[in-house]
Amino acid sequence: MNIAVVKDEIFLKHNPGDWHPERPERLERIYARLEEPDLANLVKVLCPREATFEELTWNHAPEYIKTIQQTAGQDHVQLDPDTITSPYTYEAAVKAVGAQFVGLDAIFKGQVAHVFALVRPPGHHAEYNRAMGFCIFNNVALAAHYAMRRLSCERVLIIDWDLHHGNGTQWSFYEDPRVVYFSTHQFPYYPGTGRVEEIGSGEGTGFTVNVPLPAGCGDPEYATVFRRVLVPVAKEFRPQVILISAGFDIYFGDPLGGMSVTPVGVAYLMRVVKELAHELCEGRILLTLEGGYSLQGLSDCTAAVILELAGRSIIPPDRAEELDEVEVELEVFKRISAVLGKFWPGIGG
Ligand SMILES: [Zn+2]
Repeated sequence: MNIAVVKDEIFLKHNPGDWHPERPERLERIYARLEEPDLANLVKVLCPREATFEELTWNHAPEYIKTIQQTAGQDHVQLDPDTITSPYTYEAAVKAVGAQFVGLDAIFKGQVAHVFALVRPPGHHAEYNRAMGFCIFNNVALAAHYAMRRLSCERVLIIDWDLHHGNGTQWSFYEDPRVVYFSTHQFPYYPGTGRVEEIGSGEGTGFTVNVPLPAGCGDPEYATVFRRVLVPVAKEFRPQVILISAGFDIYFGDPLGGMSVTPVGVAYLMRVVKELAHELCEGRILLTLEGGYSLQGLSDCTAAVILELAGRSIIPPDRAEELDEVEVELEVFKRISAVLGKFWPGIGG
């Protein structure tokens, strides 16, 4: 077994409210899917640990961490218009971060090549001193810090294919040339950031790569973007580990999103990244769950990713060939070439 998932009952106990789309059933459906025969013996199961206060300060203000700490045991605390805690949210949030560290340790000890942290709450909107967009602590940003501080990585690639732009992750490494942040996202849309022109600043200039996309993009558009933008950047950057903010709100049936990616499309994106990881960094991939609000979509897309990593792809061969060859001309490619071409010569062409 070359794949592990990190899972725990605590992630089902964070409950922002019965009306809320980011609800425990999301993970219940995914955990149930893992028990079905085609997946049951494919993955190791790892338990999370709690991230320490000091580890959280790598990405968050101490006062902010204390504010979240104080919500423990409290009924409901509203942190922003759509981010709300419940009695177990703090414990879930620190273990969602710790799940990243456990996953990275397993990868760097050579126990498995690929880990999927199946956690809630999600993280990519969380900023240095504020919760936002259902997110409390920035799981993937803290994973990148851990890779650099504890595992001696000098180059970390974050791929954020969630429907939304990961503003929190972008700002965490905006001036840091050790981290490439690559994001595809519906635009204009929540949270409003993620323009092509946001490319990083200072020493980090060129290391933020945003691909804003109009609503309605599906498998051919995403396949083209990954091949024309992500692949050349990754090959030039040569990361030592690849982190994925895996949001499944790009699924065609998602109630919050406007994209039309199918589970086969998600498997194809996973295939592109897996090939990169094997070429560049001994296959090292840590995925972490972000958004995705269709229970069917979460179940099908999680399975698609795990089966792809396990070499049991759901992509029919003729469909794979189509996606390998498709070239959708998107308006955004010209702008990306113009803005980022001098940093990444192969981009957009
Ligand atoms: Zn999202």
